[in-house]
Amino acid sequence: MVKLTTQRQALLDIINASHRHWDADELARAMSDAGQSIGIATVYRGLAALESQGLIDSIQLADKKRYERADKAHHDHMVCTECGHIEEFSHQTIEQLQLAAAHEKGFTLTGHQLVMFGLCRQCAKGSES
Ligand SMILES: [Zn+2]
Ligand SMILES: [Zn+2]
Repeated sequence: MVKLTTQRQALLDIINASHRHWDADELARAMSDAGQSIGIATVYRGLAALESQGLIDSIQLADKKRYERADKAHHDHMVCTECGHIEEFSHQTIEQLQLAAAHEKGFTLTGHQLVMFGLCRQCAKGSES
């Protein structure tokens, strides 16, 4: 087991305590709420280290990375461009088609990320009226 600094352990604990998808600013705020004020650069370095150790996962959105716990089953994401809501999904046919597409190109797949952008149910309702 890798030994983590107190700050990195605190970051990991916050991420593991929920199913949220955090950005670095939110984590810096949560850290200071927990009495561990650290600079944003330290948060970024800590997140990069935790991710390279496989302790957390990230998704790359248009503007920023978001981080989530690494112990969930594989899933992909839909992101609402209006309110930022993130919906997780996993669709077997899409998974299979990605494998087939990779195979066609002679590509040995080691992983993938699929992010779909649009409006969540709430925001789509709002734009109708
Ligand atoms: Zn929305
Ligand atoms: Zn997720």
